[in-house]
Amino acid sequence: MKAVMYHYVRPAGPGLPYFPYLSLADFERQLDIFGRDYGFVSRRAFLDWLEGAPAPEGVLLTFDDGLRDHIDYVLPALLRRDLFGLFYLCSAPLVEGVLLDVHKVHLILGRIGGPAALAWLERNSSEILPGAELRRQTHYAAQKADPATKLIKDIFNWRLTPEVRGPALDRLLRYAFSDSPPRVSDIYLGAAEARALVDAGMGVGPHGHRHLPASQLTPPEESFEIETSSRFVDEVLSTLGWGYCYPHGMFSQTSQDILEKAGCPFALAIGDGADIEGLIRNTPRYSLPRHNCSAFPSGQVSFELPPVHSAGMTSTGKELGIA
Ligand SMILES: [Zn+2]
Repeated sequence: MKAVMYHYVRPAGPGLPYFPYLSLADFERQLDIFGRDYGFVSRRAFLDWLEGAPAPEGVLLTFDDGLRDHIDYVLPALLRRDLFGLFYLCSAPLVEGVLLDVHKVHLILGRIGGPAALAWLERNSSEILPGAELRRQTHYAAQKADPATKLIKDIFNWRLTPEVRGPALDRLLRYAFSDSPPRVSDIYLGAAEARALVDAGMGVGPHGHRHLPASQLTPPEESFEIETSSRFVDEVLSTLGWGYCYPHGMFSQTSQDILEKAGCPFALAIGDGADIEGLIRNTPRYSLPRHNCSAFPSGQVSFELPPVHSAGMTSTGKELGIA
């Protein structure tokens, strides 16, 4: 079983010239390829595996972050082909009505590009920028984005505390969108849409409250993130049978212990792109590996404009990864 991970899937649209997304046409092409080469894991076959059957052959489709794209474009595509998918959502956008920091970063970069965002920070918030040496050591070294984009993602996703990150990010977001940033309902699906996924036969599970990486959390904070998002999914969708999905694919022993103690059936990581094989009792059920869709043909992201270049920086970017 190949669990394949998707984020943004949408047709081309105006307003976000540097935003990386998987085009709906490529998504459809990739489904054609998967159907031809591997086949798909059905809801029944996946449930049978959870109940002790050997891992089925085929692709298990998974969609992260509770994005509006998933109800607007992914669900109709799956229904047309009678396919099953697992969808994981964060609870803070639905409970508190807030954009998550990780998505604010995507929107800022998508709107103005990395070099312009970095130039704004240098003018207005230089105290949060790391020194020259640290600038070269990003979590995104393997990605093909331009250096400014990688640095912005590294700063906001990994280096700053929420207290420092939040205000800087909000100011930058207002600058990027000329004081009218996207609304929560533009980005995420709501409770009714999440229920529509369940009603359509899809699996829906929690993906943390605020999409924070486990490495930045204390054990009580990890507990809060897992339990809050799980409670939300349970209360609103009456289901906790579809496991948990780790934000940024990151987990700790604490995360795994919390999930096991709560009776969660499994958890999805990102892993090294291995397949899930054999019986569930013989698999690392709280760190199941997934493949990024970009590892397969037609899975590379699109941009409205080519990736940005800036003076003195070398960009090799054609395939900026997500998150
Ligand atoms: Zn995510």
